Amino acid sequence: MNAALALDEIHDRIARACAIARREPCEVTLVAVSKTHAAEAIEPLLAARQRHFGENRVQEAQAKWPALRERYPDAKLHLVGQLQSNKAEDAVRLFDCIHSLDRPSLVTALAKAFDKVGRQIETFVQVDVGEEPQKGGCAVKDLPALLAQARDAAIPVVGLMCVPPADIEPAPFFALLDKLARDNGLDGRSMGMSGDFETAIMLGATHVRVGSALFGERGS
Ligand SMILES: *Cc1c(COP(=O)(O)O)cnc(C)c1O
Repeated sequence: MNAALALDEIHDRIARACAIARREPCEVTLVAVSKTHAAEAIEPLLAARQRHFGENRVQEAQAKWPALRERYPDAKLHLVGQLQSNKAEDAVRLFDCIHSLDRPSLVTALAKAFDKVGRQIETFVQVDVGEEPQKGGCAVKDLPALLAQARDAAIPVVGLMCVPPADIEPAPFFALLDKLARDNGLDGRSMGMSGDFETAIMLGATHVRVGSALFGERGS
Protein backbone atom coordinates (compact mmCIF):
# COMPACT_ATOMS: atom_id res chain seq x y z
CA MET A 1 0.00 0.00 0.00
CA ASN A 2 1.02 3.58 -0.66
CA ALA A 3 2.61 5.08 2.47
CA ALA A 4 0.47 8.22 2.52
CA LEU A 5 -2.70 6.09 2.29
CA ALA A 6 -1.48 3.81 5.06
CA LEU A 7 -0.82 6.91 7.17
CA ASP A 8 -4.35 8.23 6.54
CA GLU A 9 -5.76 4.88 7.58
CA ILE A 10 -3.78 4.84 10.84
CA HIS A 11 -4.93 8.40 11.59
CA ASP A 12 -8.54 7.30 11.04
CA ARG A 13 -8.10 4.34 13.36
CA ILE A 14 -6.50 6.54 16.03
CA ALA A 15 -9.41 8.99 15.71
CA ARG A 16 -11.99 6.20 16.06
CA ALA A 17 -10.27 4.76 19.15
CA CYS A 18 -10.06 8.25 20.67
CA ALA A 19 -13.78 8.84 20.01
CA ILE A 20 -14.69 5.63 21.83
CA ALA A 21 -12.39 6.57 24.73
CA ARG A 22 -13.70 10.16 24.82
CA ARG A 23 -10.21 11.43 24.12
CA GLU A 24 -8.85 13.93 21.59
CA PRO A 25 -6.61 12.61 18.77
CA CYS A 26 -4.10 15.37 19.57
CA GLU A 27 -3.44 13.57 22.89
CA VAL A 28 -1.89 10.66 20.98
CA THR A 29 1.46 10.97 19.21
CA LEU A 30 1.97 8.53 16.35
CA VAL A 31 5.59 7.33 16.32
CA ALA A 32 6.24 5.68 12.93
CA VAL A 33 8.72 2.90 13.64
CA SER A 34 10.98 2.90 10.58
CA LYS A 35 13.57 0.37 11.78
CA THR A 36 14.90 -1.85 8.94
CA HIS A 37 13.28 0.42 6.33
CA ALA A 38 15.42 2.46 3.96
CA ALA A 39 15.29 6.22 3.52
CA GLU A 40 13.29 5.77 0.31
CA ALA A 41 10.49 4.13 2.30
CA ILE A 42 10.61 6.79 5.03
CA GLU A 43 10.59 9.84 2.80
CA PRO A 44 6.98 9.48 1.53
CA LEU A 45 5.78 9.61 5.15
CA LEU A 46 7.82 12.75 5.79
CA ALA A 47 6.33 14.23 2.62
CA ALA A 48 2.87 13.36 4.01
CA ARG A 49 3.79 15.37 7.13
CA GLN A 50 4.49 12.54 9.56
CA ARG A 51 7.14 13.94 11.91
CA HIS A 52 7.76 11.42 14.73
CA PHE A 53 9.81 8.34 13.85
CA GLY A 54 11.12 5.44 15.89
CA GLU A 55 14.33 3.47 15.42
CA ASN A 56 15.67 0.66 17.56
CA ARG A 57 19.40 0.79 16.72
CA VAL A 58 21.67 3.77 17.18
CA GLN A 59 23.98 2.78 14.33
CA GLU A 60 21.19 2.20 11.84
CA ALA A 61 19.65 5.56 12.71
CA GLN A 62 23.04 7.29 12.34
CA ALA A 63 23.30 5.87 8.84
CA LYS A 64 19.81 6.88 7.69
CA TRP A 65 18.73 10.02 9.47
CA PRO A 66 21.28 12.82 9.02
CA ALA A 67 20.47 13.02 5.28
CA LEU A 68 16.69 12.84 5.85
CA ARG A 69 16.97 15.53 8.49
CA GLU A 70 18.68 17.91 6.13
CA ARG A 71 15.47 17.93 4.13
CA TYR A 72 13.10 17.68 7.10
CA PRO A 73 14.82 19.46 10.01
CA ASP A 74 11.70 19.27 12.19
CA ALA A 75 11.56 15.44 12.16
CA LYS A 76 11.69 13.99 15.69
CA LEU A 77 13.54 10.75 16.37
CA HIS A 78 12.56 8.32 19.13
CA LEU A 79 14.82 5.49 20.27
CA VAL A 80 12.51 2.54 20.97
CA GLY A 81 15.10 -0.23 21.32
CA GLN A 82 17.46 -1.21 24.09
CA LEU A 83 20.36 1.18 24.62
CA GLN A 84 23.85 0.10 25.63
CA SER A 85 25.52 2.53 28.00
CA ASN A 86 28.51 2.95 25.70
CA LYS A 87 26.14 4.26 22.98
CA ALA A 88 24.46 6.80 25.26
CA GLU A 89 26.42 9.75 23.96
CA ASP A 90 25.71 8.91 20.30
CA ALA A 91 22.04 8.44 21.17
CA VAL A 92 21.82 11.83 22.89
CA ARG A 93 23.36 13.54 19.86
CA LEU A 94 20.92 11.94 17.41
CA PHE A 95 17.61 11.24 19.16
CA ASP A 96 14.98 13.58 20.59
CA CYS A 97 13.47 11.05 22.98
CA ILE A 98 14.52 7.72 24.51
CA HIS A 99 11.79 5.20 25.31
CA SER A 100 14.04 2.53 26.84
CA LEU A 101 15.55 3.91 30.02
CA ASP A 102 15.48 0.78 32.16
CA ARG A 103 18.40 0.48 34.60
CA PRO A 104 20.57 2.43 37.02
CA SER A 105 23.74 2.18 34.89
CA LEU A 106 21.90 3.78 31.97
CA VAL A 107 20.67 6.65 34.16
CA THR A 108 24.29 7.33 35.05
CA ALA A 109 25.46 7.03 31.44
CA LEU A 110 22.69 9.34 30.17
CA ALA A 111 23.40 11.98 32.81
CA LYS A 112 27.05 11.96 31.73
CA ALA A 113 26.09 12.09 28.05
CA PHE A 114 23.74 15.07 28.64
CA ASP A 115 26.62 16.92 30.29
CA LYS A 116 29.13 16.09 27.62
CA VAL A 117 26.84 16.86 24.65
CA GLY A 118 25.23 19.88 26.32
CA ARG A 119 21.74 18.67 25.47
CA GLN A 120 18.91 17.14 27.48
CA ILE A 121 16.29 14.93 25.89
CA GLU A 122 13.05 13.46 27.21
CA THR A 123 12.90 9.85 28.33
CA PHE A 124 10.37 7.16 29.08
CA VAL A 125 11.21 4.48 31.62
CA GLN A 126 10.56 1.06 30.09
CA VAL A 127 8.79 -1.30 32.47
CA ASP A 128 8.98 -5.08 32.17
CA VAL A 129 5.24 -5.57 32.61
CA GLY A 130 5.27 -9.20 31.42
CA GLU A 131 8.25 -10.33 33.50
CA GLU A 132 10.32 -11.06 30.41
CA PRO A 133 13.75 -9.65 31.35
CA GLN A 134 15.25 -10.53 27.95
CA LYS A 135 13.11 -7.78 26.39
CA GLY A 136 14.59 -5.13 28.63
CA GLY A 137 12.60 -2.98 30.98
CA CYS A 138 12.84 -2.34 34.68
CA ALA A 139 11.04 -4.77 37.02
CA VAL A 140 7.82 -3.31 38.44
CA LYS A 141 9.22 -3.54 41.97
CA ASP A 142 12.35 -1.55 40.98
CA LEU A 143 10.44 1.29 39.31
CA PRO A 144 10.19 3.72 42.25
CA ALA A 145 13.93 3.53 42.96
CA LEU A 146 14.84 4.00 39.29
CA LEU A 147 12.53 7.02 39.00
CA ALA A 148 14.06 8.52 42.14
CA GLN A 149 17.56 8.00 40.77
CA ALA A 150 16.58 9.64 37.46
CA ARG A 151 15.10 12.60 39.33
CA ASP A 152 18.28 13.01 41.38
CA ALA A 153 20.33 12.90 38.17
CA ALA A 154 18.03 15.55 36.59
CA ILE A 155 17.00 13.23 33.75
CA PRO A 156 13.64 14.37 32.35
CA VAL A 157 11.30 11.37 32.61
CA VAL A 158 8.00 12.11 30.87
CA GLY A 159 6.35 8.73 31.17
CA LEU A 160 6.51 4.94 31.09
CA MET A 161 6.84 2.54 28.17
CA CYS A 162 6.09 -1.16 27.75
CA VAL A 163 6.19 -3.98 25.23
CA PRO A 164 3.70 -6.61 26.49
CA PRO A 165 4.29 -10.32 25.90
CA ALA A 166 3.48 -11.50 22.38
CA ASP A 167 0.41 -13.61 21.59
CA ILE A 168 -1.66 -12.89 24.66
CA GLU A 169 -4.26 -10.24 25.35
CA PRO A 170 -2.32 -6.99 25.94
CA ALA A 171 -5.05 -4.99 27.72
CA PRO A 172 -4.14 -6.02 31.30
CA PHE A 173 -0.51 -4.98 30.67
CA PHE A 174 -1.56 -1.60 29.25
CA ALA A 175 -3.82 -1.09 32.26
CA LEU A 176 -0.92 -1.93 34.56
CA LEU A 177 1.36 0.58 32.82
CA ASP A 178 -1.36 3.22 33.05
CA LYS A 179 -1.74 2.61 36.77
CA LEU A 180 2.03 2.69 37.38
CA ALA A 181 2.26 6.00 35.49
CA ARG A 182 -0.60 7.46 37.51
CA ASP A 183 0.85 6.23 40.83
CA ASN A 184 4.14 7.90 39.98
CA GLY A 185 2.67 11.16 38.72
CA LEU A 186 3.77 10.69 35.09
CA ASP A 187 1.69 11.82 32.10
CA GLY A 188 3.27 9.83 29.26
CA ARG A 189 2.35 6.27 28.32
CA SER A 190 4.27 4.82 25.35
CA MET A 191 2.31 1.68 24.56
CA GLY A 192 0.60 0.01 21.61
CA MET A 193 2.09 -1.28 18.33
CA SER A 194 0.55 -2.24 14.97
CA GLY A 195 -1.50 -5.08 16.40
CA ASP A 196 -2.89 -3.39 19.48
CA PHE A 197 -2.61 0.40 19.35
CA GLU A 198 -6.37 0.98 19.51
CA THR A 199 -6.60 -1.02 22.73
CA ALA A 200 -3.64 0.96 24.09
CA ILE A 201 -5.35 4.26 23.22
CA MET A 202 -8.49 3.19 25.07
CA LEU A 203 -6.29 2.49 28.09
CA GLY A 204 -4.49 5.82 28.03
CA ALA A 205 -1.61 5.62 25.52
CA THR A 206 -0.07 9.01 24.71
CA HIS A 207 2.51 7.57 22.25
CA VAL A 208 1.77 4.63 19.97
CA ARG A 209 4.69 3.00 18.15
CA VAL A 210 3.48 1.70 14.79
CA GLY A 211 5.80 -0.01 12.30
CA SER A 212 4.43 -2.77 10.07
CA ALA A 213 0.94 -1.25 9.71
CA LEU A 214 2.60 1.76 8.07
CA PHE A 215 5.57 0.30 6.24
CA GLY A 216 4.46 -3.28 5.58
CA GLU A 217 6.03 -6.34 7.14
CA ARG A 218 9.73 -6.21 7.87
CA GLY A 219 11.77 -8.76 5.94
CA SER A 220 13.03 -11.53 8.20
C1 LIG B 1 9.42 -2.81 16.16
C2 LIG B 1 8.86 -2.13 17.35
C3 LIG B 1 7.60 -1.51 17.29
C4 LIG B 1 6.71 -1.53 16.06
O1 LIG B 1 6.19 -2.83 15.88
P1 LIG B 1 5.06 -3.16 14.77
O2 LIG B 1 4.41 -4.38 15.28
O3 LIG B 1 5.78 -3.34 13.49
O4 LIG B 1 4.13 -2.00 14.75
C5 LIG B 1 7.16 -0.85 18.43
N1 LIG B 1 7.89 -0.82 19.56
C6 LIG B 1 9.11 -1.39 19.65
C7 LIG B 1 9.85 -1.32 20.93
C8 LIG B 1 9.62 -2.07 18.56
O5 LIG B 1 10.82 -2.66 18.67
